[in-house]
Amino acid sequence: MFLLCCGWVVSGSEFINTSQTNKYVNLSSQSKYIQDNNFGIVDVLSLPKAAWFENNADNLNLGYTAQSYWVKVNFVLPKNTQPHIIEIAYPVLDSLKLYLMAEDTVISYAKLGDKQAFSDRLIQHHNYLVPIESDISGAHALYIKVNSSSALQLPIRLWTVQKFYETDQFNMLFLGIYFGLMSVMAIYNLLMYFSLRDKTQLYYVVYVSAIIAFYMSLSGLGFRYLWQNSLWWNDQSILFFLIAAVLAGTLFIVRLLELKKNSRTLYYGCVFIAVIGIMLLFLSMYFSYGVMIRVIIVYASLACLWGVITRTVRLFEGSHFSTYYSLAWNAALCGGIILAANKFNFLPSNWFTEHALTIGTSIEVACLSFAMAERINSERKKRFIAQAKSMSEIRKANQLLEIEVESRTRELQDAYDKLKHTSRIDELTQVFNRRSLNEALNTECLRAKRFGHSISVLMVDIDHFKKVNDTYGHQCGDKCLSQVANVLKGACTRAGDTVARYGGEEFCILLPECNEHDALELGEIIRKRTQATAVRFEDRMIKMTVSIGVTTGWGRDLEPHKLIKQADLALYFAKQHGRNQVSLGSTLDT
Ligand code: GH3
Ligand code: MG
Ligand code: MG
Repeated sequence: MFLLCCGWVVSGSEFINTSQTNKYVNLSSQSKYIQDNNFGIVDVLSLPKAAWFENNADNLNLGYTAQSYWVKVNFVLPKNTQPHIIEIAYPVLDSLKLYLMAEDTVISYAKLGDKQAFSDRLIQHHNYLVPIESDISGAHALYIKVNSSSALQLPIRLWTVQKFYETDQFNMLFLGIYFGLMSVMAIYNLLMYFSLRDKTQLYYVVYVSAIIAFYMSLSGLGFRYLWQNSLWWNDQSILFFLIAAVLAGTLFIVRLLELKKNSRTLYYGCVFIAVIGIMLLFLSMYFSYGVMIRVIIVYASLACLWGVITRTVRLFEGSHFSTYYSLAWNAALCGGIILAANKFNFLPSNWFTEHALTIGTSIEVACLSFAMAERINSERKKRFIAQAKSMSEIRKANQLLEIEVESRTRELQDAYDKLKHTSRIDELTQVFNRRSLNEALNTECLRAKRFGHSISVLMVDIDHFKKVNDTYGHQCGDKCLSQVANVLKGACTRAGDTVARYGGEEFCILLPECNEHDALELGEIIRKRTQATAVRFEDRMIKMTVSIGVTTGWGRDLEPHKLIKQADLALYFAKQHGRNQVSLGSTLDT
């Protein structure tokens, strides 16, 4: 309010004295204006003083209007003055006709505006400049006829040529720094996008580029350096880049604040803004600036409002990216508000208020870049935690698998042992079977040959066993077979002895490192124990006898089949000679 009041302080004189200033003279602050009614300069000159409206504000701002206006301002140039320049520091004005009068005579006339090619300008500058020759002094009146489809503002400044170029150099340096900074941000993040492929960065790059381009259009620098000959594009580019900035900015916050995941309402709001943005982008190519600008200002304002709501909601939900984002936006918003307050005469015009938006957007762009770096950082942390979690899960699963494999291996080993046992043991009598006997016989014969010791074989056959079966049945016969097997096992206690069922009711005993004498002795023990044993079956006691053939072999000619054959012959001999007796194979040979 204080600054506003300052703006209302007006000087009493109708003429501005230019000799008192050390920078430029703000001619707008004491300008007068009138709406144009197809007046020519002659008509305007003859208008009474009362017909003019006074502008007491710093800047002359007539808002959006389709009407043309006449603006006049009186000023005095001192004697022996330096050459001067009149600057209209608002490059988007459509059409300007400037008449510089000295005592009712037009001493200079210029036609300006962005509706004429850039090359037609008297001085090639992005603002409108009219030179005043050095030999002119005294009281002057400047009449300007102006009209524009953009907001009709007329900041008229009177400079000495020297001061103008000194200040302009500084301003250009400032703008150079601004565009340089923004471009570096855009290029750096574009390179980051190529490396990381995160769409957030791409939207950021488009957003920053659109702001750069928008500012280029608005400041007239685009027209000056990039599209000198395209009058149509000079108007439309402001619309196009403003919509592009809003659109990319909206898509950017959708990604940065992860709205799709976090809030459906905010997400769909942004999608709606984006869809409208794309439509407006196309429309801005077909409709004139005057028609579109009002729509786009409403659109941009609503989008900004939605942006404020979004970041506030996300801030309360605890999204820490929202903090950076809010910081960034507040900077840009403050810049925008200060600039607007300046344009609408609420704040005085000075270097800071003029460049507030530029400074604000620079801070914004830097903050947003920082927010993205934070986002990458947080993603990396999340990935790291997930990786560690999955690693520990894999480790656990591996441990379980190892335990499972171990238990399965044990089970398999047990099953294998069992199978091996069953494949080697006779089921009924639980002594070795014929296969095991053959294996043992082969091995023991080889060992006996190598170490030069003897080996004995006993062939045991139950006497008249058929009769047992026939009399008491096969079940009884089986029991008797088991019993005889037990007797054989009980008698053969030495390690290395093998008791096996040879087939039917015949058994074979293999005795390594056993001489004839010991073998015969063992045979006799077996025969006696069998005879002494009775098998109980259904209250009957069944008695059995066995005949045994014994043989002992040694030396180089030792062969398993020969041993068996000899033992068999000895057994046959025992049977022939009355059964229940032990015969010796070697005796038979002799
Ligand atoms: P010998 O004194 O001459 O040896 O007369 P034997 O009756 O014992 O001999 P033989 O060869 O005539 O008969 C053997 C019998 O053994 C015939 C068969 O029924 C019986 N046998 C063979 N294997 C088994 C078996 O696993 N269980 C039963 N219960 N009987 C069997
Ligand atoms: Mg028999
Ligand atoms: Mg037999």
